Amino acid sequence: MSARTLFIGGTWQAATDGGARDIECPATGELVGTVSEATRVDTEKAIAAARAAFDDGRWSSVPASDRGAFLLRVAQRLRERKAEFARAESLDTGKRLVESEIDMDDITACFEYFGRVAAQDAGRLVDAGSASVVSRIQYEPVGVCGMITPWNYPLLQAAWKIGPALAAGCTFVLKPAELTPHTSILMMEVLDELGLPAGVANLVTGNGPDAGAPLSEHPDVDLVSFTGGLVTGRVVAAAAAATVKKVALELGGKNPNVIFADADFDAAVDNALNGAFVHSGQVCSAGARIVVQESIAEKFTDALVARAQLIRLGGPFDERAETGPLISAAHRDKVDAYVKAGVAEGARVRCGGAFATGTSGDTDLDAGYYYLPTVLDQVRSGMSVVVDEAFGPVVTIETFTDEDDAVRIGNDTHYGLAGAVWTQDAGKAQRVANRLRHGTIWINDFHPYLPQAEWGGFGQSGVGRELGPTGLDEYREAKHVYQNVAPAVTGWFDDASQQ
Ligand code: NAD
Repeated sequence: MSARTLFIGGTWQAATDGGARDIECPATGELVGTVSEATRVDTEKAIAAARAAFDDGRWSSVPASDRGAFLLRVAQRLRERKAEFARAESLDTGKRLVESEIDMDDITACFEYFGRVAAQDAGRLVDAGSASVVSRIQYEPVGVCGMITPWNYPLLQAAWKIGPALAAGCTFVLKPAELTPHTSILMMEVLDELGLPAGVANLVTGNGPDAGAPLSEHPDVDLVSFTGGLVTGRVVAAAAAATVKKVALELGGKNPNVIFADADFDAAVDNALNGAFVHSGQVCSAGARIVVQESIAEKFTDALVARAQLIRLGGPFDERAETGPLISAAHRDKVDAYVKAGVAEGARVRCGGAFATGTSGDTDLDAGYYYLPTVLDQVRSGMSVVVDEAFGPVVTIETFTDEDDAVRIGNDTHYGLAGAVWTQDAGKAQRVANRLRHGTIWINDFHPYLPQAEWGGFGQSGVGRELGPTGLDEYREAKHVYQNVAPAVTGWFDDASQQ
């Protein structure tokens, strides 16, 4: 029997043309499962189900406090099923089990946050400047939401959208990345078993151009929220423009990690390693550009290279592994081509720069898509390895002379997602943080984020924000209700009223 992983209008179904896709674990190449490959027709069915569910108010009429309580129950169920979800995430992505467990805790925290704030800030009174007017802003759900998510943090990226959408009273169609659908399927099971009304949450598994594109094109979708690469983001935004739907984009980054000579050296090296090589660099906020003060550049690079060479690669269940594979053979080829292009432009490979092969601990590296942690120096502004996102375990080293130079280099990107500054001078840390044009700046840290704090990009890293109060506002329309409590003839058209 064909796979039935499309969740449309409250029922599990196969793709209309019977299409299916095998999902393999990138750590081992083994089959994880087979899922439906949705066609445009399937996605249009899902949009129709979400539209009907929104239009009859079956979720938006549920009081916001009850919607929040529902999200808290979702969080509780995710906590109970954490092991199962984490395992599924690791099999699809190849990431270490412990990383997937952290992702599941973050996902639970996201649902708890939006559960708590769902009923807060329902609107506000506005001073209309007249005793005879009552004026208020009330927030209403934006409507049917299309959600398109990437493969690096599959359920986490979906949770950042599902949490606020359900809190606000929206209905939605989720299209996860074609390579990593399983935790989104499990998520629909949870929403269904906890009693979310049919049609509120819909899922289509499949590729971007067929299953995904209708979410940005269809007139019955009110908002499309996309997380993924810059090139796809442009396609989604252009398609959405035709129906002037609301667009939220969370795109890539080329994130500077600025290290001053007066930084805590060991902490800076250690965190630079985390910034660049966690999840093999397949992180939108990866610290892929180290921007280090000239006076310590050599010592810093030597220390980083020495540690990068010791990073233990391995599969999700190999307990000694410190980071895992790339998502696919095609992606590994892309990362390798990116490094080679950098070398052709003059970059020097200090370590890595090749496929990882042989065995490492329990892991047969030849069976998966492993790439060696790579450090490139002798790079210059404008080189492709400095400009473009690698989305792999590749870090470049640039040097700066003083504070102004550090800021100039740190802002020398068309992206603007995240960055860090390392110094023990508190004033300098604040000055540089204020001048860096990125959506998140870490001071003496790398990577942490909070569900109650906005996440998103300056520049071409995106449009809008996820998480925090603004992350909820993305899924709400502000409506102004203006009431004249003492209606009277205006006298504006005096002549007309006298006839
Ligand atoms: P991608 O752009 O290739 O794909 C993202 C999603 O878009 C997938 O679900 C894909 O199927 C879908 N898609 C592809 N073509 C489409 C189309 N024409 N219409 C509609 N949907 C389409 O990105 P990816 O390779 O899955 O993810 C990696 C990228 O995501 C990186 O650039 C990374 O920086 C970015 N990312 C950003 C954030 C953030 O918070 N800013 C978080 C995670 C990942």
